[in-house]
Amino acid sequence: MSLAGLRTGVPLAPLTTLGLGGPARHLLLCPSVESVAAGVRLAGERDWPLAVLGGGSNVVVADEGFPGLVLKMEIGGLAFRRKGRWTLVTAGAGESWDGLVAACIERGLRGLECLSGIPGTAGAAPIQNIGAYGQEVAQTLLCVTCLDRSTLKTVEIPGSECGFGYRTSRFKAADRDRLIVLGVTLRLSEGAPDESRYPELTEALAKPIPLAGHRSALQAVRDAVLSLRRSKAMVIDPAEPESRCAGSFFLNPVLAEGDFDRLQAEHGPIPSFPAPGGVKVPAAWLVEHAGFPKGYSRGGAGISTKHALALVNRGGSAADLLALASAIQEAVRLRFGIGLEREPVVIG
Ligand SMILES: Cc1cc2nc3c(=O)[nH]c(=O)nc-3n(C[C@H](O)[C@H](O)[C@H](O)COP(=O)(O)OP(=O)(O)OC[C@H]3O[C@@H](n4cnc5c(N)ncnc54)[C@H](O)[C@@H]3O)c2cc1C
Repeated sequence: MSLAGLRTGVPLAPLTTLGLGGPARHLLLCPSVESVAAGVRLAGERDWPLAVLGGGSNVVVADEGFPGLVLKMEIGGLAFRRKGRWTLVTAGAGESWDGLVAACIERGLRGLECLSGIPGTAGAAPIQNIGAYGQEVAQTLLCVTCLDRSTLKTVEIPGSECGFGYRTSRFKAADRDRLIVLGVTLRLSEGAPDESRYPELTEALAKPIPLAGHRSALQAVRDAVLSLRRSKAMVIDPAEPESRCAGSFFLNPVLAEGDFDRLQAEHGPIPSFPAPGGVKVPAAWLVEHAGFPKGYSRGGAGISTKHALALVNRGGSAADLLALASAIQEAVRLRFGIGLEREPVVIG
């Protein structure tokens, strides 16, 4: 019964925001914990490689496709529970992340408003500790419910044990092949949004926030974030060809102070901001100054006209896109001696 959603030879490209890549040999739609466990068991019995897919907004599927079983996470459910001054928000892994954010703002709950418009599922949010405009999911995540693939048991992992860092967690690193996220619980409180620390957002909020309560102040931040993201094609919109991407393709490198000083001595002033362990340099600046401007195109892939870090599918293949990514990494390495790390995960 839990294998009812099993299909064979399923094209994966339409299940991703890049719209690239070949088929999955097998795909199981997983609307329940039982179906996820059944899929893991089946893959073990047949010795099939296993991959997990949420909304497909942070993956590049290889042109050859995936030679095993893809579990497509569709566990639904969104619940709100009061606990003292907190509201605990529990979401199934397959819930829309942005739907969750909108529902929280509707209830006057603060802490997620800057994460408005990020595509994908609630279950994927902790994988790379999604973040934008000064907020990260790690700040409000109470615990993650997972299926341990090695024991087929459900485990609860407190936020403090998720190994969160800048666009990373234990789910993306050491436990990548062990833990499947079944659901998340966030701990939020009612209140006004924090003051923006991002000049771009502060400017967008320059008109006074309506004083009709927390809800409308939070909604104003959400509207400003969505409008900024739209201007960069950073919300998925079928009518916007520049949003056929996987978001930012490279992480912003963090350099030791000394290395950053040497870089500036050689290349002149470089934008930067403080980060744990050193200085964070915008990857977008490095990409543009290594000879890859916005709007650059090569083969069937290109750089968004609106965002220097977004690699866009312009009718080519996954190989075209990955070749462009490698060319950019090589150019940045040659010019600045910095290795850019890829953000999306390659499946296949
Ligand atoms: C236009 C655009 C804008 C974006 N903007 C941002 C941004 O501002 N900030 C940001 O942080 N990210 C951003 N992203 C990246 C992406 O939206 C997030 O990483 C998102 O959390 C991915 O969710 P998903 O459900 O699509 O995951 P998928 O792309 O399906 O999967 C991503 C990875 O997580 C794994 N995974 C997914 N679900 C589970 C699960 N339940 N259990 C275990 N592993 C799982 C997959 O195996 C894969 O390795 C953007 C992407 C796009 C296309």
